[in-house]
Order: sequence, then structure tokens, then C-alpha cells
Amino acid sequence: MAATTTQSTPLLANQLQAAYPEYTFTASERFSWNPVSKTVSYQADGDPARLLHELGHALLGHHVYRRDVELVKMESDAWQKASEIAAEYATNVSEASIEEHMDTYRDWLHARSTCPSCEANGIQSDVDHYRCLECETTWRVNEARTCGLKRYIDQ
Ligand SMILES: [Zn+2]
Ligand SMILES: [Zn+2]
Repeated sequence: MAATTTQSTPLLANQLQAAYPEYTFTASERFSWNPVSKTVSYQADGDPARLLHELGHALLGHHVYRRDVELVKMESDAWQKASEIAAEYATNVSEASIEEHMDTYRDWLHARSTCPSCEANGIQSDVDHYRCLECETTWRVNEARTCGLKRYIDQ
């Protein structure tokens, strides 16, 4: 368990609910931020740092992204925000939990952007397609599970 943390996630959620009445904090199966309903979901037995990370998305107004790299940037920014407010809420946002979480996004991005034909690194051509610059292969990628940020198609 997180021995360095002085906060429990449900207690932190109560504090945040009082501080940010414009958002709804609700216990759930996983951590997420829903920009449409302005709901921050948290796992009651999860790491309080993750709750601050989701609040970071909320405070930064994260809503839509068009490119996978934008999502990775948003994830990083939300951690930055979580680190900034951590002391105020007696919560430890460790470098290790940030790296562990960011690694899942880096792995996800790597898996999506690797050309299935030649394994070169492709570029994203639209919300769900990548194109290889080496061999011209194009491939489709599926919607992935994220912090609740949605991708909107331009039309
Ligand atoms: Zn996130
Ligand atoms: Zn290729």
C-alpha cells in the first residue's frame, strides 16, 4: 500500500468536493474525468494521487483531443497540475506513480504508431488512422480507454 501517502482517497474526494462544488466527485470502478457531466470518478481504494490527476484534467479544461500525442501531453499536464496542488491536500504525488501511469500511455502510443508491415514509426493521419512514411502502409487504430477524454471527429 502507499505508505508515504497521508491521505485516503475517499477523504480526499470529500475535501475536493467541498473545494470544487462545480464538479461531482463519485466513487467508481476506475479513475476518470468526464468533461460533459463534469464528473471526477475515483476508485475508493486507489492512489489519491490519481484523484488529483483527474482533478488536474478538470482544472485544465481538458475536453477533446485529435491526435494521440495530444492526449499524452494532456496526461503529462494533468500530472503537473496534480503535483502543484498536492501539498495543499496532504497528498504525495510521487515521481514513481507519475512514471508508471505515463508509461501506460507511452506503451499505448508506441503500439498504435508502429507500422504493422515494417515496424517503422508511423504518423497519425486522422483520429483513427496512422500512415507509415517508410512503406506507405496505412492502418486503423481503435478507440482506447483513456481518462475519459473523448475524441471528436471533424464533421
Ligand atoms: Zn489522465
Ligand atoms: Zn511501414
